[in-house]
Formats: sequence, structure tokens, C-alpha cells
Amino acid sequence: MTNTSPLRVAVVGSGPSGFYAAEHLRKQQPGVEIDLFDRLPTPYGLVRGGVAPDHPKIKAVTRVYDRIMAGPEVRFLGNVMIGQDLTREELRRFYHAVIHCVGAHADRSLGIPGEDLPGSHAATDFVAWYNGHPDYTDLRFDLSAGRVAVVGVGNVAIDVVRILACTPEELETTDIAPHALEALRSSRVREIWMLGRRGPVQAAFTNPELRELGELADADVIVRPDEIALDPASAAALAAADERTPERNMETLRAYAAKPPEGKRRTVHLRFLCSPVEISGAGRVERMIIARNRLVPEANGSLRAEPTGERETLDVGLVFRSVGYLGTGVPGLPLDARKGVIPNDHGRVLEDGAPVSGEYVAGWIKRGPSGVIGTNKPDAVETADLLLEDFGAGKLATPPEPGRDAVDGFLRERGVRVFSWADWQRLDGLERARGVTLGRPRVKFTRVADMLAAVES
Ligand code: NAP
Repeated sequence: MTNTSPLRVAVVGSGPSGFYAAEHLRKQQPGVEIDLFDRLPTPYGLVRGGVAPDHPKIKAVTRVYDRIMAGPEVRFLGNVMIGQDLTREELRRFYHAVIHCVGAHADRSLGIPGEDLPGSHAATDFVAWYNGHPDYTDLRFDLSAGRVAVVGVGNVAIDVVRILACTPEELETTDIAPHALEALRSSRVREIWMLGRRGPVQAAFTNPELRELGELADADVIVRPDEIALDPASAAALAAADERTPERNMETLRAYAAKPPEGKRRTVHLRFLCSPVEISGAGRVERMIIARNRLVPEANGSLRAEPTGERETLDVGLVFRSVGYLGTGVPGLPLDARKGVIPNDHGRVLEDGAPVSGEYVAGWIKRGPSGVIGTNKPDAVETADLLLEDFGAGKLATPPEPGRDAVDGFLRERGVRVFSWADWQRLDGLERARGVTLGRPRVKFTRVADMLAAVES
């Protein structure tokens, strides 16, 4: 089969993997037409809704994404909910192929009693709330609790700990959502307990993030020397590690353990070898039972946490569970619910082991919630290359209604107010302008209706 019309691709989700997929297709396939969809009027996915507000350098990656939009090949169609405004089947009327870059929205659970009590939250909800994601704007977090537990020792947990430990002055020069800044201004949180189930060598956080905790204006970091003393297996793992992250983390942790507290207003207690086993309280979170662990080697060489039998009780009024994101998939496509990914072969969606023609995945819904933003580039390139290979081999059915006008007309008829790249650029300008007098990089709009009204006014 030979291709008679230019390749047309729908990329669903305008986070990092969506942009990287579009960029690669644009470079490799002259004349390609790419529509980059997002259910929100705003682009950038987790760069806007996940990266911590006090990490502006990481957010600067959006400049790379803006350059991808400069050419005629890629359009942004924001405020379009695929699966609702336009179904997956309908997409195939207009495009040869779809790349699903929808990420991982849900959170993994701990599977312990009490984790659904009021006051126990998924860290991912808190992150989306303080970043102004419209779906989370109306959430409430009771920051009147003096003591808070954050479960997990990954970079999301560190972000949450840091935001809770920052002073209002540290936050008010960032793009944190206005409602979160107000709530955090009157926060009474004084002690933040970050809990790792395994030891420091197995921690998932990275060096700069761990070091930043020690640089906070009004928070001491407390590490117990006995909890970072390495068991023989961890010491061996550290010596054999082929990257320096664990070794550098250990240096920082040893420095924290050696440093007496300076009497700052807040304290971050970084604990290891302890797992929450129960959260309880009369109608809301009041305490957490913690089991102390030891590490035992697994057959595959990794170290697993095993309870020693010793327990302790931590009186806490708020819990953030930060044990990983979980993908929820795309209606109509298979899902590996345990891993939270759509089954795929290097990006080609698989159903019963066979590729589903014209359906591809990239990013977290392809490989799971791992890596940094840049990890999504080779991941998306791999998928885009397979799509191009399939197109070149004539394996992708020509859509019955090719051409940009067809999909635009369809969405108009459905009454969908598509948010274009020009709309976004206008909204971006308005957000930045709102920040100028306050000395903030931007003041985000946090409701879709307000975003639409702002660009129309
Ligand atoms: P993550 O890096 O996978 O960390 C999850 C943490 O939860 C691990 O410490 C894990 O411990 C722990 N955990 C899992 N199940 C648990 C349980 N039942 N009980 C207690 N602890 C449990 O996930 P993440 O922090 O959500 O981050 C997701 C990705 O985004 C990562 O790749 C991260 O590096 C990235 N990210 C990067 C930045 C940045 O670059 N600044 C910021 C935020 C996120 P075990 O190891 O024992 O399983």
C-alpha cells in the first residue's frame, strides 16, 4: 500500500513526551501534520502541573517546546477532552495514527488501614493543588496540624516536604497557585516526618533535591546517625553502584546527621527503615503506627524491607502518601493495571500480544512514572520512529477525512471551544503580567472558565 496523503498524527497530551514526539516527527517527516491535543487549555503537562514552583530552571524547558510550535507542522488543540469531545474511534477519521502521551494521573496506595481517613492525602493531589491544576483547585488541606508525615523518599516526597517547610517569603517569588500561597501563609505545620521504608542507599531522591532541604531559610533537617549506618549489603551495594547518586546522597545525609539543629521554626525529620502500618484517629488522621524494618536480600540482588517487630507511634494530623504515580490508561485500549501502563512494544500498543494498528504510546503511560523530564525524549523518539516505519511500510490506514478543516469543523459542530496556541500565548502573557507587580514569574489562572474568559475579554 502506498500513502496518498501527508502523514497526519494526533498526539494526545501536551506534556514533555507529547512535545518530544511532535518534535521528532516534524524533523523526520517533511509535510507531516501534527495536532497536539490537551484536555486543559494550557500546555506542558507536568512541567506546569507537577514541577515544583520553586524550580524555575526546570520549567525553562518550555522554551524548547515553544520552538517546536513555531513551524507550520504542529498545532495545539487545547481544551479538547479525547474520549469525550472526540473519541478515540473518531480520531481515526482524521489521522493516520495516534500517540497517547497521557501520563499517569492516579497515585499508588499503601494498602494499610486508615489511609482513606480525612487528612490522609495522595501527595500527587497536593502537588497538583499547589501548582494550580484546575481539577484540584477546590481541594482543601488542613494545614493547622503541627506535625505531618510524608511517606516515601522519592523526589515528589522531597518536593512536598520542601513546600511544607518553606517560609511564605520563599514561596511568594514563585509561580505557586494563589490559593496555595494563601493557605501556606497561615500553615501551622512545624514538624515534617519523611519516611523511607528502606535505607538511605535505596532512597529514590536525587542529590540536588536532597541538598536543597538543607538550604531552607527556616527549617532544620534532622537525620538519625543509627538510621544511616549501613548494613553490610547496603555498603556493598554502595561500593558497587555504577552511578554516584547514592554515594553523594550518603555524603549529604552524613552531614545532616552531624549538624546540630539551629533552632529554626520548622524541622524536617528524615527517617529510614520504617513503614507505616496503620493510620488512625476519631474521624480523621491523628496518628500513624510505624513498623521498624531491616533489609533482607532478594534473589534478584535487591534489598527488601522486612519488619523487625519493633513499632512506634507518631502523632500526626496530616499524611501525604508519596509512593509513586499510577497510569489509568485510555478508554478502549488495554491496561496493565498493576504497572499502570498500556501494554506496548517499544511504543506500539499491544492487544493480546499483537500491535493495534495506528495506536502508539510514549512517556509515563508507556514505561511507568520514572526518570526526569529529559528521559521522555529518547522514549518519545523511539515511538515516533516506529510510527514512521509503519507509515513508510504502508501499514497505517489513510484516514477518510484527512485535512485540518475536517477535524476543526467536527469540533466546532460539537460546540468545543478549542484553545489554540495563540490563545495560550495570550493567556501566558496575562499570567506573566499579573505577576509583575508582585515580583512573581506569573500568577496562574486556576480555573478553566477563568482561562477562557481571560483570553476572550
Ligand atoms: P519514585 O521516585 O518512584 O519514589 C517512590 C518512593 O516511594 C520510593 O522511595 C519507594 O520506596 C517508596 N514506596 C513505594 N511503595 C511504598 C510503600 N508501600 N511504603 C513505603 N514507601 C513506598 O516516585 P516519585 O517520587 O513519585 O517520582 C516519580 C518520578 O518523577 C521519579 O522519576 C522522580 O525522580 C521524578 N521527579 C523528579 C523531580 C526532579 O527532578 N526534581 C521532581 C519530582 C519527581 P522503594 O524504593 O522502597 O520502593
